Amino acid sequence: MASDTREGLLYIDGERCKGSAGSFPVEDPATGTVIGRAAKATAEDARRAVDAAAAAFPAWSKMPGPERAAILRRVADRIMARSEEIARVMTAEQGKPLAEARGEVRISADYFSWNGEEARRIYGDLIPASTNQKRLLVLRQPVGVTAAITPWNFPASMLARKIAPALAAGCTVVCKPASATPLTACALFDAMEEAGLPKGVANLVTGPAGAVVGAWMDDGRVRKVSFTGSTEVGKELMRGAAAQMKRVSLELGGHAPFLIFADADLDAAAAGLVMSKFRNAGQTCICANRLYVERTVAEELAQRIRHQVEKLKVGPGAQEGVEVGPLIDHEAVQKVHAQVQDAVSRGGRVLCGGHALREGAFAQGHFYAPTVVTDLPYDALVAREETFGPLIGLWPFDTEEEAIALANDTPYGLASYVYTQNLGRAFRVAEGLEYGIVGLNDPVPTVAQAPFGGVKESGVGREGGYEGVLAYLETKFVSMVL
Ligand code: NAP
Repeated sequence: MASDTREGLLYIDGERCKGSAGSFPVEDPATGTVIGRAAKATAEDARRAVDAAAAAFPAWSKMPGPERAAILRRVADRIMARSEEIARVMTAEQGKPLAEARGEVRISADYFSWNGEEARRIYGDLIPASTNQKRLLVLRQPVGVTAAITPWNFPASMLARKIAPALAAGCTVVCKPASATPLTACALFDAMEEAGLPKGVANLVTGPAGAVVGAWMDDGRVRKVSFTGSTEVGKELMRGAAAQMKRVSLELGGHAPFLIFADADLDAAAAGLVMSKFRNAGQTCICANRLYVERTVAEELAQRIRHQVEKLKVGPGAQEGVEVGPLIDHEAVQKVHAQVQDAVSRGGRVLCGGHALREGAFAQGHFYAPTVVTDLPYDALVAREETFGPLIGLWPFDTEEEAIALANDTPYGLASYVYTQNLGRAFRVAEGLEYGIVGLNDPVPTVAQAPFGGVKESGVGREGGYEGVLAYLETKFVSMVL
């Protein structure tokens, strides 16, 4: 199907329907052209989705785990069968290179198959009692209807990482994807529908966050909110959830430090940094934002990195060979440029990039040249604010202790990276970093089977791994006198 004819509808109680407030346009950030429209829901539509999820909950939560597992396995298969279509829609509305979009579709399918397997392993406990007359049981039961709210930077995998464990646990879901990328969500729901998901188990509502999420926050039937997005909105939701003591999982912003010691494999470190920083044009919550390099190799490494960054091919994600696509919108370009200007005004040296790309094929899109800046103070904006764009600041350090202290000097605590060949140092630094994730000589630490999440202001809870399913279960204690 041509992407410019795409129409994204709501999916409520197993039916496609229009939004009661009409529709809104979806743009390609590489060209600024409208590539489709998505349904604009009202609070009433959002409540209907909860009606459907609440009605579906009793049967879905009681379905034996192996049966839920089989359905989730089929969802994974259907996602892979539709892989190329989903990837192309994603690149069209989000901008990432097609190869990255295809990778994201694969990991989305992985979330369904891995969590489906976990549906078979939701165990309880039998606790030794203090008297022979008693038996102490622990049951794990689904939390209930869950609201999943997701950002635009990973439009398929962020949804999959919530829906799959929630369904595996026996919860039903209402989902609101970001308004910049609703069409990928629609394509994902096509795959879920084809897999035979019972009606009402997963519902999709696109449209304004205030109306949709607001209705869910007020609705006592919604027992859990699982949110991925900015720290600012995450805090607002946590405050809102307190009113009904809804359960929350919050995957929020990051400001990843990337530490390179002189004893590291410098080729691997330079390549890892470029991959971590410039994947998805720097619009990932776990991408490197601050590069700290041991002073003795700092200049050499800066030049190696500059050399690699200058070779990166920037352009529309659908174009063959492109490695860095556009940013999501004009404000994102402005934010990156403000950080570059701030760095320069404080004496920063731009090693490469440092400007928006506006000529020729870039004219209508939101492109920024991949940028590396050094010789800047520790309180420069790029050292303090999440960039969410293709810019990295480089600072030298002298000791291991100093490197750890610099890395931890932020309210964020999502991902961090360390490159060293020294085993003792690898352990000391990994243990000293106040982060939920440490990539040790590894620039891409995200997998379905491992816990993903942050400490400090980067969030609450974990997604992925068995902990990802636990997040959708309540613990019930049954004390029994025989
Ligand atoms: P965002 O502005 O917080 O939006 C995220 C989602 O929340 C969207 O669906 C958005 O809907 C909705 N939303 C916006 N304002 C809301 C409100 N007041 N109440 C309820 N919902 C609201 O974040 P974003 O710009 O899409 O994504 C970028 C951020 O996500 C970055 O900070 C990034 O680090 C973070 N992120 C974190 C992770 C992680 O796993 N930790 C992963 C990916 C991204 P609309 O689009 O309709 O406004």
